[in-house]
Amino acid sequence: MMSNTSFLSYVMRQFEEATQTLGLSQDICDVLRRPERSVTVSLPCRMDDGKLKVFTGYRVQYSSARGPYKGGIRYHPDVTLEEVTALAMLMTWKCAIMDIPFGGAKGGIRCDPKSMSQAELERLTRKYTMAIANIIGPYLDIPAPDVYTDAQTMAWIMDAYSKIKGAPTPAVVTGKPVALGGSEGRFEATGMGVAVVTREVSKYLKRPLKDAKVVVQGFGNAGYISAKLLQEMGCRIIAVSDSKGGIHSHDQLDVEKVLEHKRRTGSVINYEKAENITNEELLESECDFLIPAALENQITAKNADRIKALAVIEAANGPTTPEADRVLFDRGILVVPDTLASAGGVTVSYFEWVQNLTRMKWSLEEVKRNLEMRMVKSFEDVINSAKEYNVSARQAAMIVAVKRVAEAVKALGSWP
Ligand code: NAD
Repeated sequence: MMSNTSFLSYVMRQFEEATQTLGLSQDICDVLRRPERSVTVSLPCRMDDGKLKVFTGYRVQYSSARGPYKGGIRYHPDVTLEEVTALAMLMTWKCAIMDIPFGGAKGGIRCDPKSMSQAELERLTRKYTMAIANIIGPYLDIPAPDVYTDAQTMAWIMDAYSKIKGAPTPAVVTGKPVALGGSEGRFEATGMGVAVVTREVSKYLKRPLKDAKVVVQGFGNAGYISAKLLQEMGCRIIAVSDSKGGIHSHDQLDVEKVLEHKRRTGSVINYEKAENITNEELLESECDFLIPAALENQITAKNADRIKALAVIEAANGPTTPEADRVLFDRGILVVPDTLASAGGVTVSYFEWVQNLTRMKWSLEEVKRNLEMRMVKSFEDVINSAKEYNVSARQAAMIVAVKRVAEAVKALGSWP
């Protein structure tokens, strides 16, 4: 696992490469090298046993050049200011790649949510909201769920914020329950985005989706929905996995039946119409499209030369290490970076915000149509940039993003 320092320097290196390719002025680079605001808050919280425990929370607002700050809040024992800063910078690029009018931010609380009760989590979330209430808001900074936070966490933030400000303010967060103004399609959004991007890759590589062999690592929200939609588009899902291991079929798996089996037994393994394989074997299976949808650092220098896919579509965050990325590029394997492939979630978050501000409710069909349009356009932008600069899709995506943010910074000027 990459340390937080090396993660930040990796993200920074990608940025520096893009600025060099674009020949950006030193002034603009200096502005974009650091976050606009980093806030660390101390959160004394009453635990169920009556004791007071003091937690540390962060909110890093990286850039507001293209619009209000946007980014998730994670609860994890390893959260640090450096990690949150790197993630806030990445959110800036992700929103710019998707051309949605947001800047980038990220937040987090250093805590172990698995060892806390719902009541403790609620108190901590409301404390955190109180501590950052003056720097978030519908036109200022809009948090969303991330690792170990969910729709319920967003409901608590929205409620606390609304009470502090004295007015119901649904647009202050996205990823809310539908009953509180959450969007239709938010749950399926990431998988939908992955499926649309895979379809565009298939057109680009002239490998029709019909009967294309697809391997999916991870069978949770992103993995299962991607697999299900790609099966509906005519692909053969030949292997899937979860944390206990994987399964492979020489013909194809029935995704719904695998889900039923997982619900019944707790895992995809031991599904009767397939053979069990390890996660390592799964990644090295011969296929057209490989979709890592589980954890970071899965395709590394150790296995990159054994990947047998035509293309890798990164549904997970950071599944490919920088070393592996170079190997795959040299081997001519197209890698659609996470900043684009997994951007369905943040895009539907944007739709949720738009619906809240306009007091409108979109149908699932409307959400899907708009998401598809944006994913197709961003894929085209990234591929065109990859051709223009003769770089990998990951570098191309960074170039698209940095160029858009830099143009905004330049147009804003420096005042006062
Ligand atoms: P999830 O918790 O719903 O599913 C994760 C899946 O990965 C589970 O099936 C789990 O068993 C499996 N898994 C865990 N360890 C594994 C291992 N060692 N090998 C193989 N499988 C393993 O999570 P999710 O929401 O689907 O997120 C998956 C990835 O997609 C993460 O990297 C996440 O950051 C990224 N992502 C998700 C969203 C979203 O909206 N859900 C948006 C953007 C990015």
